[in-house]
Amino acid sequence: MRRKLVAGNWKMHGTLTDNDVLLTAVLAGMADVKAQVAVCVPFPYLAQVQAKLAGSAVAWGAQNMSQHAKGAYTGEVSAAMLNDFGCRYVIVGHSERRAIYGETDAVVAEKYAAAQAAGLIPILCVGETLSEREECITEQVVGRQIDAVLAKSGVASLAKAVIAYEPVWAIGTGVTASPDQAQAVHAFIRGKIRALDAGIADSLVIQYGGSMKAGNAAELLAQPDIDGGLIGGAALVADDFLAICKAG
Ligand code: PEP
Repeated sequence: MRRKLVAGNWKMHGTLTDNDVLLTAVLAGMADVKAQVAVCVPFPYLAQVQAKLAGSAVAWGAQNMSQHAKGAYTGEVSAAMLNDFGCRYVIVGHSERRAIYGETDAVVAEKYAAAQAAGLIPILCVGETLSEREECITEQVVGRQIDAVLAKSGVASLAKAVIAYEPVWAIGTGVTASPDQAQAVHAFIRGKIRALDAGIADSLVIQYGGSMKAGNAAELLAQPDIDGGLIGGAALVADDFLAICKAG
């Protein structure tokens, strides 16, 4: 039985004061939450979040990391550094990293491998753009993104990973994939993994991300292959984030 995972992706938002208010409210509302919960925060706030969440039911992580272990990579942050701040998760391959910072499937696969080598759980983001959906190549795109990781790390690596299906056209747009649209891609992903290893496929947590809100979470999370959510905008409002967590 898979336990749902709801993870907030704060993106480049937050201040010390706002974070404290948000996390205080989230912690106060956790009593009724059955899902696993995490927040993925900007690097400068990892120490704050670690101090605030240590020993609580809310885990934390980062939104990106370097594929390199150490060295002359100005501005980069390694997996070992994330470990120093108690991170459990790190998002790799978010569509904003792929589109704005040119991260290729190969680079994402390297980051995924480096995260796991350091004991972090990568949340691997995959998803098609609107034009790719309109061309009816969603499965090819998502399949290619996953194949890059499988080629480098193997199917067994998915025992310690999460996949987030995030249609790019739904991220930050207010347009959510319908439960049927999302379920179809989730089933495709699980079927692809099942063809390689049924046990891994059955235990793999596959989150949906893309304008998931308090009002649509329950219907999405009721789908058989949707095991949680990766939440952007709604993760910045405690009541909204908690409502999604409780729907899971
Ligand atoms: C995201 O950034 O991963 C995301 C899903 O954003 P939003 O919920 O705002 O669409």
